[in-house]
Amino acid sequence: MAEARQVKNRIVQAVLRECQKLKEKDDLTDELEHVRDIKNKKERLIKSVALASEASRRTINIEPYPVQILASIKMYQGHVIEMKTGEGKTFVSPMTAFAKVLDGQKVHVLTVNDYLVERDYTLLLPVYEMLGLSVGYITTETPIEERKKAYKCDVCYITNSEVGFDYLKDHLAMHPDSVVCNGKYDFAIIDEADSILIDEARTPLIISADTELISGFCISCAKFVKTLELSKETEELEDTVYVGEFPNVDGDAILNLKYGQVYLTENGVKKAEDYFNVDHLDKFILHSLNNALIARFIKKKGIDYIVRRNEIIIVDNATGRLTEGRTWSDGLHQAVQAKEGVEIDAASETAASITYQCLFRQYKDFCGMTGTVKTERREFRKIYKKKISVIPTNRPVIRQDLPDRIFARKEEKYQAILEETRKAIDKGRAVLVGTASVLTSEELSDIFDENDIGHDLLNAKLHRREAEIIAEAGSSGNVVIATNMAGRGTDIKIDEKTRAAGGLLVIGAEHNEAKRIDNQLRGRCGRQGDPGSTQFFVSLEDRLINPYLSKSYYEEMKKVKEIEKKDPFSGNIIRRVHKRIGLQYYSNRKDLFDYDKVNQVQMRVIYNEREKILNDDMDRETVERIAKEMNMKKEFHEAMKRKKDEGKDTVTILQEQKKVLLKSIDKEWRKHLQDLEALKRNEYLKAYGNMDPVTQYRLDAYPLFAEMVVRVKKEFMKEILKE
Ligand code: ADP
Ligand code: MG
Repeated sequence: MAEARQVKNRIVQAVLRECQKLKEKDDLTDELEHVRDIKNKKERLIKSVALASEASRRTINIEPYPVQILASIKMYQGHVIEMKTGEGKTFVSPMTAFAKVLDGQKVHVLTVNDYLVERDYTLLLPVYEMLGLSVGYITTETPIEERKKAYKCDVCYITNSEVGFDYLKDHLAMHPDSVVCNGKYDFAIIDEADSILIDEARTPLIISADTELISGFCISCAKFVKTLELSKETEELEDTVYVGEFPNVDGDAILNLKYGQVYLTENGVKKAEDYFNVDHLDKFILHSLNNALIARFIKKKGIDYIVRRNEIIIVDNATGRLTEGRTWSDGLHQAVQAKEGVEIDAASETAASITYQCLFRQYKDFCGMTGTVKTERREFRKIYKKKISVIPTNRPVIRQDLPDRIFARKEEKYQAILEETRKAIDKGRAVLVGTASVLTSEELSDIFDENDIGHDLLNAKLHRREAEIIAEAGSSGNVVIATNMAGRGTDIKIDEKTRAAGGLLVIGAEHNEAKRIDNQLRGRCGRQGDPGSTQFFVSLEDRLINPYLSKSYYEEMKKVKEIEKKDPFSGNIIRRVHKRIGLQYYSNRKDLFDYDKVNQVQMRVIYNEREKILNDDMDRETVERIAKEMNMKKEFHEAMKRKKDEGKDTVTILQEQKKVLLKSIDKEWRKHLQDLEALKRNEYLKAYGNMDPVTQYRLDAYPLFAEMVVRVKKEFMKEILKE
């Protein structure tokens, strides 16, 4: 096996020299005390990284490789590092964290699920203990008091969504004691950074408050759209269109699969007006209908969601994972529930929301680590203002990435996957088949069953068990079918027999939406210089590429079984699809971010005010000032007198009023978020005007905000003047 790679970086060299010296000491106590007093920042960095490295060697028997030390330095400098799967990113974080703690910062180490949070915390606890740091962890199950304690630690392991939700909940707290992590956002180390900062960043985190809903109307809409016929022009449609732009086409609705949109044609609009017995479709009807259309024509059962026990469970497109508890917003979830005839939830209103892009801006700084991110360089630079450093592998990669095999039909593709799998296990290799959707993984699993190929199927949210199965996936003759996020963070070790037979074979049963995710799958094999190979199998019926094929090409190709690799078109198609989807998602995230930046400015104002009110005792002047502004001084004094006559003392009254004020803020802020949402939708429609929609949005959002502030005061007065 090749030697550990040497790293030329000067700081790394200095750390390694320091490590040599530390190895000879019996005890690190003196060194650990001394390092805190070093004033020179660079010197302290070198010493602290060396100490953390040595503590790792002494406690858990992992002596970081030079490349891992390099990674820790880059992360200390705030970079996002790309370091291949299996290179040991987990063990890099204590070195960076220790150096940051010595700078006087608190460190959050974020990852994608509770299982990884607990695993990494448990694994690294001895290292932190030797270094004398306090360390805690938080999962969805952590109760509030424990949570507070964990946030107070020097280092806290937690998932990205828990940090986000705690942030939002802290700003809805009615009492200072229910705040768990107020304002302590110093430094974050983000593991699986591509997943958190790119994939998850497409949808904001939302805390919702329930409101009533006219679920009957959802059902009518679902019934109505069932009667509609799609236009024949559907497949030809190239670009974004707006309602009413298609006066002359046949059918009732027109579909644009590429953009995931459906529109009523003029015909459809007429039918709807008849059906709902109105002269024109108002905003509310249009909105509900649009959801019903998307539910019927775009959201596909088995791909976008599944129905289980009278519930709709969303499947994450990027990861193929079931996302229990998540819902589509804006009434779409209810529309899908109506389509499937399951119980319809009360529609919920956003009480607070934040995008990941903005959440991470709460931190003074952050860094990230991931196996694949180079492809997303531009986005990191533009949106997060982050540099990417590619860390070399410790040992050379000898994995073979074989060219795609392309088939006309899905069945033929599945057959080929079956044959390849059988060949590989007969030889003594192990096989991991990665799919982009639950549907594909289930179809393949059935075929494997029919052909007596024993295998494990991973697509549910069973992190712990999942990790065990993935950890076993490298044993000779083993077959695992998994959606691509399954077991993320757990690396696959191969046994000697598998190694001798050529290592792990990774089969991509379909391409993923991004090249980065394809690479993530490939990266499951060939870790630490292991042998292994990867290959993707494609069919022209694949959901990812089918919408991009021209009809004539498709018809032509259906005549052959396996398409020649030389075919110029086949080689390019995936690259083009990835580029196209990548651009579209990028622009979605960029839009989301640009609009959210406007909201954030307002949110800061409100949250700051709210924090002051929450943490201070309410004083009478504040209330009087509001009463005066609202021209209600007289009424206010009368009300105060009445309350005192009832026997309440001033302190009690003021305490009550503080709660009322907080509630008024929350209520009106919630309404305001709805208004902003509506404004945004309008701005989108106006986008063909000459003003950039975000600028227009910023201009229009301000008066709405001012109105909201007045409403808060009104609402507050109304409540406190009540009998
Ligand atoms: P990554 O997160 O980069 O995919 P992990 O942190 O899960 O990788 O580590 C992968 C495996 O490599 C672990 O099983 C760990 O035991 C091993 N490993 C990592 N660093 C070292 C090291 N310096 N020395 C020995 N083994 C290591
Ligand atoms: Mg990892």
